[in-house]
Amino acid sequence: MILAGEGLKSGGAGLIDNAAMTNRNIWRLNARPTDHIRDGDLIYTTETVPSLAEGQFRLQTLYLSLDPTNRTWMGDQENYMPPVEIGAVMRGVVAGRVVESRKEGVHPGATYAWIGEWADSTVTDGGGLQQLPELPGIDLATTFGALSLVGPTAYFGLLDIGKPQPGETLVVSAAAGGVGQIVGQIGKIKGCRVIGIAGGKAKCDFIKNELRFDAAIDYKSEDVGDALDRLAPKGVDINFEQVGGTIMKAVMARMRRFGRVPVCGLISGYNGEVVEAPTIGTTMFIRRLLVEGFIVTDYAPRFEEAHRELAGWLLAGTLKTRLDIRPGLENACDALKDLFTGDNFGKLLIEVTKP
Ligand code: NDP
Repeated sequence: MILAGEGLKSGGAGLIDNAAMTNRNIWRLNARPTDHIRDGDLIYTTETVPSLAEGQFRLQTLYLSLDPTNRTWMGDQENYMPPVEIGAVMRGVVAGRVVESRKEGVHPGATYAWIGEWADSTVTDGGGLQQLPELPGIDLATTFGALSLVGPTAYFGLLDIGKPQPGETLVVSAAAGGVGQIVGQIGKIKGCRVIGIAGGKAKCDFIKNELRFDAAIDYKSEDVGDALDRLAPKGVDINFEQVGGTIMKAVMARMRRFGRVPVCGLISGYNGEVVEAPTIGTTMFIRRLLVEGFIVTDYAPRFEEAHRELAGWLLAGTLKTRLDIRPGLENACDALKDLFTGDNFGKLLIEVTKP
């Protein structure tokens, strides 16, 4: 299952105000954005919490993960999950603590995570949720924020599809974000020369100086193709693609023979932009490139493996993760917009309730 293992021990459950449990705050999808998310596409409101039926439990949300895919769920284009219906509570990846239970085997104080709602409290039968593993020495925000979704994405996309070999050149776009920062560091662990592409000096300094990437390209101030010609004159073996558009075209034109391209995301097109894309032309054919899209949930049966490895690297100090934690569910919609302007710096989370 997605997040196997024992539940976190309670300790913070006593902080939760049971008097506030009669109402809950939620975000509902009001309109499908056609380009960027606008005020009013999601509406923040308060409603009464239903009482528990047999087989249900109440989850107090601690963290809400904000992910680029939230924008894709708001639209009705072809996707790997059905769209959120107009009027429905917005779907999101959450971590929460059980505060009341009428479900056998589910006990107050246990921490559950995965697919839930943009809500500070949810009555659920547990569908879509798994107990969050306790990773010794790693705090809840890191376990949930960095390891539950973006960590396995980086791990399986790079290792299973990218198949990094020592001495190879790995390029990763959106390099200072949730997935990208982990991709680059796994690349270093596997002996690659890692070049990160990110927007702005602060992010480029971070991936070079803090995360020990070999080089960084600030796509906002320099031409990506020119920079790659300078930094990787023999070409690129692995392109961990997260952005699409002109950045992707520049990297793809510089792929070496038998290069691999895990297509993790194409964020530059999520707001409906028409983005330039490389075609299956002579370069891909003659250079025998492997280009493979993937969705992390395909790897759910192997998540435990990723958690074990990632946790080991974190505890050994060979892997660092930067979280960007914002307080307050009411700020979720504004914070989500930041993923598309680059105003997040690290894995973006909303702290809904202090754990
Ligand atoms: P990030 O933390 O990386 O945040 C998104 C970043 O993307 C921004 O900070 C910004 O960084 C960059 N960005 C946004 N718009 C553009 C643009 N037009 N051109 C260039 N860069 C842009 O998010 P995640 O780590 O959560 O996600 C990264 C990618 O991975 C996304 O494409 C996402 O959809 C994908 N993903 C895929 C999964 C899968 O299963 N396949 C699972 C999880 C994520 P900067 O400031 O550097 O521009």
